[in-house]
Amino acid sequence: MRVKILGSAAGGGFPQWNCACPNCRAVRAGTFPGKARTQAQVAISADGRAWFLLGASPDLRAQIEATPELHPRRDGGVRQSPISGAVLLNADVDHILGLLLMRELQPLHVYATESIRRILTEDNSMFGMLRRVPGQLTWTAFEPRKTFKVERTPFPSISQVCHSDPERSEGEESSVRQICCRAPSLGTHFPAYVSPERRSELPHGEASLGLIVESASGKRLAYMPAVPDISDELVREFESADVLLLDGTFWSDDELIRLQGSEQTAHQMGHIPISGPEGSLRRLAHLRRPRRIYIHVNNSNPILNEAGPEYRQVHEAGWEIAEDGWQFEL
Ligand SMILES: [Zn+2]
Repeated sequence: MRVKILGSAAGGGFPQWNCACPNCRAVRAGTFPGKARTQAQVAISADGRAWFLLGASPDLRAQIEATPELHPRRDGGVRQSPISGAVLLNADVDHILGLLLMRELQPLHVYATESIRRILTEDNSMFGMLRRVPGQLTWTAFEPRKTFKVERTPFPSISQVCHSDPERSEGEESSVRQICCRAPSLGTHFPAYVSPERRSELPHGEASLGLIVESASGKRLAYMPAVPDISDELVREFESADVLLLDGTFWSDDELIRLQGSEQTAHQMGHIPISGPEGSLRRLAHLRRPRRIYIHVNNSNPILNEAGPEYRQVHEAGWEIAEDGWQFEL
């Protein structure tokens, strides 16, 4: 399985259009010892030809253009795309706006919980642009914690059995085109634009999910861009992962309060901070197996400064900080 990080910043990107924090000012001035980043976006592929997006970021158009693997191929007709679909983990604008950028009648397969589908298609009429012709957008519902398969739709999978399925028979070939996923429930808050009436009728466990992706070879990627708390159960998921892409939104719990007088802590915004007694660095200090990478980094986060003590501290603890354009094989 190939994994590409198309965007590594939190919502707003780095720099953020309306932000004059020290980080954003310095990166615009060309004096920042660090890199600009687009909003978080990951793409995965089992065969290097059909790609699935994890979320659909507002920067998707530019991210696709910056990624040759996602360009339409010369041999496929005028209108086509290697992008087969997307897996949605929440209904945040930063996570779904890119769907509307793919409205040019291209057939896509979207995997999401029923809650996310209802919010987008029943409450937001603009998403009607994605169902103008039959087969334009095909929704497949999944439930939190249950395994589901992501596969290129025009071609039926060779094997219907996931690698980790206990009923998988001896010697059975896993399809090279198939990727198994499981989405643990992480947060219970739906986006602010969802009406109180709608919120009250949706299962809270479907509000915000992480994703465990398993390749045909059994290697695991844990993609967790919004983690409010790290439970023991989640630690066990991390321990069995080969690569962990973890919420690196904020360095400290009161980061936005100190910076801009925000009234919300990182925790209240659904993100465990990196530092501090309750932070992810300390909570996961024992973690050894997975390659550990922070992603979804907010423009205010001091770890973006590669000359700073926070950047050094994170690296000395064995963590990396995702950059746009990174890729790896699993
Ligand atoms: Zn900023």
